[in-house]
Amino acid sequence: MKKLVFLTGAGMSAESGISTFRDAGGLWEKYPVQQVASIEGYYRDPELVITFYNQRRKQLLECLPNEGHRIVAEMEKWFDTTVVTQNIDNLHEKAGSSHVIHLHGELMKATSSRNPNDSRCITTLPEERPFIKIGDKAADGSQLRPFIVWFGESVPMMEPAIEKAMEADIFVVIGTSLNVYPAAGLLNYVRPTAKLYLIDPKPASAVSASNIHIIKKGAGEGMKELRQLLTEEI
Ligand code: NAD
Repeated sequence: MKKLVFLTGAGMSAESGISTFRDAGGLWEKYPVQQVASIEGYYRDPELVITFYNQRRKQLLECLPNEGHRIVAEMEKWFDTTVVTQNIDNLHEKAGSSHVIHLHGELMKATSSRNPNDSRCITTLPEERPFIKIGDKAADGSQLRPFIVWFGESVPMMEPAIEKAMEADIFVVIGTSLNVYPAAGLLNYVRPTAKLYLIDPKPASAVSASNIHIIKKGAGEGMKELRQLLTEEI
């Protein structure tokens, strides 16, 4: 089976009703990114940051995977498929994808404030009560915090993601402005012989110049077109 790797960003989940950064419509204005998505912001005001992610979790539980997520999962029928995502939602998993690498953490999980990457401290929050409170403790006794990779923190899943990118026969980017590093740098590891595709209604100018087949559509319609293109060749 050929190796197919997806790199997905916020646009992948837009059709599920989760705002991207750019068209967030107030969300990121009310909560500046430096406050809710950086380690300094968390140290400055842990309660505000914990509350912000409690709200994001509540919103996520009202959302369902979209057609794009479903077709990404369906590709496992024909390809050895890995999804590398910058998204913290779990919609790829809910759609049935079995190999998902989350570069920026997972919204439904919580971890230690002292050592966020200590696997003994990472827990999944129950869907019936998906909240963290000040005073909740991780297994190491420190304050429980969202399992999110914030600006200013290391990205431990980059290494397995790079390995997958290097092995890819087909590499597909969906719904990311490719502004956030190191995730955006993954493209540099893809072999020159691999086939490259980008699905985005407003493709980032950074990639339009390179050797990439651009499908200028949203995730659902774009994945329908890509399924047609890729399965024709099998
Ligand atoms: P971004 O907001 O910078 O870019 C989103 C991209 O998606 C844009 O290029 C836009 O044209 C495209 N897009 C919009 N609607 C689309 C659709 N229907 N189908 C396909 N593409 C569409 O997002 P980013 O590049 O992922 O970077 C933002 C950071 O924010 C990431 O680190 C990510 O972790 C985080 N984030 C995550 C979520 C989530 O988990 N769902 C949501 C918002 C932000």
